[in-house]
Amino acid sequence: MTLRVAIIGAGPSGLAQLRAFQSAHAQGAPMPEIVCFEKQADWGGMWNYTWRTGLDQHGEPVHGSMYRYLWSNGPKECLEFADYSFDEHFGRPISSYPPREVLWDYIQGRVKKAGVRDYIRFNTAVKNVSFDEATREFTVSAYDYSAGQGIEQVFDYVVVASGHFSTPHVPEFEGFERFAGRILHAHDFREAMEFKGQDLLIVGSSYSAEDIGSQCYKYGARSITTAYRTQPMGYKWPKGWEERPQLVRVEGNLAFFADGSNKRVDAIILCTGYQHHFPFLPDELTLKTNNRLWPTGLYQGVVWEQNPQLIYLGMQDLWYSFNLFDAQAWFARDYMLGRIKLPAKADMQADSARWRADEEALDTTASMYEFQGRYIKHLIAQTDYPSFDIDAVNRIFLKWKSDKKSDIMGYRDKSYRSVITGTAAVPHHTRWLKAMDDSLAEYLRETDGKKGEVKALRG
Ligand SMILES: Cc1cc2nc3c(=O)[nH]c(=O)nc-3n(C[C@H](O)[C@H](O)[C@H](O)COP(=O)(O)OP(=O)(O)OC[C@H]3O[C@@H](n4cnc5c(N)ncnc54)[C@H](O)[C@@H]3O)c2cc1C
Repeated sequence: MTLRVAIIGAGPSGLAQLRAFQSAHAQGAPMPEIVCFEKQADWGGMWNYTWRTGLDQHGEPVHGSMYRYLWSNGPKECLEFADYSFDEHFGRPISSYPPREVLWDYIQGRVKKAGVRDYIRFNTAVKNVSFDEATREFTVSAYDYSAGQGIEQVFDYVVVASGHFSTPHVPEFEGFERFAGRILHAHDFREAMEFKGQDLLIVGSSYSAEDIGSQCYKYGARSITTAYRTQPMGYKWPKGWEERPQLVRVEGNLAFFADGSNKRVDAIILCTGYQHHFPFLPDELTLKTNNRLWPTGLYQGVVWEQNPQLIYLGMQDLWYSFNLFDAQAWFARDYMLGRIKLPAKADMQADSARWRADEEALDTTASMYEFQGRYIKHLIAQTDYPSFDIDAVNRIFLKWKSDKKSDIMGYRDKSYRSVITGTAAVPHHTRWLKAMDDSLAEYLRETDGKKGEVKALRG
């Protein structure tokens, strides 16, 4: 009987799973009966930008947390697909930190080439997944908003690729209910221009705080104050940006911090992280974890140990991203196709416990991305995913960290060399801080030497 596989989500992880099956099929393996359920109208997950916040047109929680003017915050050389290079997609070298729309275009290029779009059921939100112990089958219930009807389908495997940066963690601080300005979580942040001329308080000290603060600085906020809980980010911030310890309370428009200081602010953005949230899964199938490199319960980081017919992709804290999802998807594919056998449950758990112990011993930033790199190597060694020089990627991460340390507003102007093709990236035609138009067309515009004259390379 043909294998039946449900994939929940057509973001980079779900698309990696589709591409993995298609690539095996191209070499003669049977193609399972696949339905990829995607609640949005298009693919790309987080990279498919939406202006919407709150609920979407169907009353579903908006998935997107990306905002306008978002540029990759890590070098593209660290996430390049090993089977589909940037060179292949763009036909010429591009810069190391492309904007969102450019990366979305790249993600789409591979799956368009693979011809897997027809496996995706768009505008269809998965509502419930149940498992029948007797038949050992899953029933997936979903609502197809295009057809205006609920559907139910039976599968042998379910791959959860629904992401974990959509359900915000939203703390409350004393005085918020009387604050005379806008308070929002990063999940609802869309347009930096909204804060032009304002004094902005950002609660948090992780990537969102750093990047949303940078966007708002770039687009004209009067001042940025970031409040940290444990330690400051410690970059050399531009004039008008300062770090303060933990926010304690607000009174009117005055924000009070743990060191007793206060500051008048116009708006507050909570960059306080996200929760892993799977409202469509029963408790016994639900991964419960914070954002970390080795969540427990997943053999090889993907197979749900309590029920190995359930697979999770992309649930780890991300240093690596697209190539990590690929390594996982290829492993999951080979397991589902019966090419990789699982050990007994106790052995899977013991294996996971070893990875977890290693993760808990990590004490430097470098040790963290090296750990994830080691994990990817381990997965790739078990499949035919093209191997690539992960040590070289780790060296790019190291350079990236030091570039940020020396110039937080200029690190995106640096270039690195692809570990897949060896091609050196070229600087973008405009420095990041001055590049206000982040569209694909503007990005690909190539000045041909004559002032003001441009030629469009790719529509
Ligand atoms: C603000 C922000 C900036 C980021 N910047 C970068 C960056 O610069 N570089 C980088 O590598 N990574 C970045 N990331 C991480 C990003 O999440 C990953 O690159 C990637 O998008 C994760 O892919 P995914 O497929 O696992 O999840 P997602 O991209 O989140 O895709 C999940 C998909 O599942 C769908 N879905 C969810 N629930 C259901 C349901 N019930 N039914 C049907 N479909 C469902 C969603 O609609 C979505 O399409 C950023 C994330 C955020 C939030």
